[in-house]
Amino acid sequence: MNQYIDQLKKDGKLNRVFNKTTYQFPKSPFIISGPCSVESEEMIVTWAHKMDSLGVDALRGGAYKPCTYPITKTVGDNGWKEGLREAGLKHLLTAKEETGLPIVSEIMDIRQINTLSMDTIDIIQVGTRNFQNYSLLDELGSLDKVVLLKRGTWATVDEILGAVERIMVKGNNKVAICLRGVVGAPSYRHVFPSIRWAPDLMMIPALKELCDIPIIYDPSHSTGYRNFVPAISKAAIAAGADGLAIESHPNPVESISDPDQAVTWQTLKQIMEDVEKYG
Ligand code: PEP
Ligand code: MN
Repeated sequence: MNQYIDQLKKDGKLNRVFNKTTYQFPKSPFIISGPCSVESEEMIVTWAHKMDSLGVDALRGGAYKPCTYPITKTVGDNGWKEGLREAGLKHLLTAKEETGLPIVSEIMDIRQINTLSMDTIDIIQVGTRNFQNYSLLDELGSLDKVVLLKRGTWATVDEILGAVERIMVKGNNKVAICLRGVVGAPSYRHVFPSIRWAPDLMMIPALKELCDIPIIYDPSHSTGYRNFVPAISKAAIAAGADGLAIESHPNPVESISDPDQAVTWQTLKQIMEDVEKYG
């Protein structure tokens, strides 16, 4: 710990709640994978079995999807509109019942905290866009559930700690930070158009210096481009991340959302074998 940080702590400006016992994932590296979005029951259940057979630790799948352009995207006739929403949660619950895999899924609003979502979701994802939605964070602070807080693309280190503290101060210390890329990618975009964010790898050792909150790295949103996902996955684990959240899909180019960054199960398998060496 450096003197500057010690002084901030002494002054009560930093880390007021982090000395409480913090949550740790049951395994390191903890691997979360699955599609950006739940697309149908058949798709998510089949994929859950696939993830389980690879040794993935938790299945992700978005039921509520915060889309940048809300009205343009409605795919197929299965009711997908910014996600399958309640139906998506039901499909995730079926996937959980069949495989036993814990479920990671996003809650965008306090009105989405209900019996169905709480029965289904084991690790509640707070999306980047809600990183400083304080009424949501306050509410999640009163639950007994792991919260995976995705960093706002703009957020400074003290804003990350502040958002974590906001959940913990209400009594829920089961918080993990998910780094998922930050503003600063335009230098790539004319060659790699799907790249929207820049990987934020240095925040891993920076946060490790300040607290014991587990860190999950998301190489999918932080790169936006599947060919870069293996390299950034390895880099994140080598830099000290406690796990990864990787978007994977049976047919990545056909993904309803984020088709450029999803990886196949073969790529995921390779990444898992590679990062195991650092874990
Ligand atoms: C996601 O995980 O699919 C997602 C929408 O992530 P983010 O909130 O980081 O954009
Ligand atoms: Mn996504």
